[in-house]
Amino acid sequence: MERRFADVVIELALGDITRVQADAIVTAANSGLRGGGGVDGAVHRAAGPQLLKACRAIGGCDTGSAVITQAYELEERGVAYVIHAVGPVWRGGSSGEAELLKGAYSKSLELADTHECTSVAFPSISTGVYHFPLEQAAPIAVHEAATFAGQRPKHLKRIIFSLFDEKTLGVFSSALEAER
Ligand code: ADP
Repeated sequence: MERRFADVVIELALGDITRVQADAIVTAANSGLRGGGGVDGAVHRAAGPQLLKACRAIGGCDTGSAVITQAYELEERGVAYVIHAVGPVWRGGSSGEAELLKGAYSKSLELADTHECTSVAFPSISTGVYHFPLEQAAPIAVHEAATFAGQRPKHLKRIIFSLFDEKTLGVFSSALEAER
């Protein structure tokens, strides 16, 4: 499904983010930017070993923020950048998790726009091994995207959520329908 907010279309799709054609794709990284399992493993495999080298050169990223690198081997598929977003590990909800998840999305959106991307693809940050409850994460993700759209970004026209399983797609769909 998709919905338009101001000049920006927010689109939900089922599938592997490394197959999405977007100017930037976002990965759910760890704060050491060391690569990992889940979506981060898939993005590192698709971009090749230079991505980890670029991450090592940066050194790390605060939780609730993001950094941007080239996309290396993903450039052959039309992806210009990888944005490494660091979401929080769920610790029960009273450790600032919601604010940190917001920050990971908003910083990623800002980086995409300042790098003149017209499209950016996100996975569902923190809802895998970081265990952020999906029912709480999806409205935050969608709301940050819609809020950014409302701020009339200069370049960004499409925000895609590439969701890996039906359950995640369903919960994001409800959140997108409910977003005003
Ligand atoms: P985190 O550590 O932030 O929780 P994970 O990678 O464990 O990150 O999971 C985040 C979400 O990404 C989960 O919904 C997971 O199913 C999904 N995911 C895993 N691989 C991919 C992929 N290749 N493309 C898109 N989403 C993926």
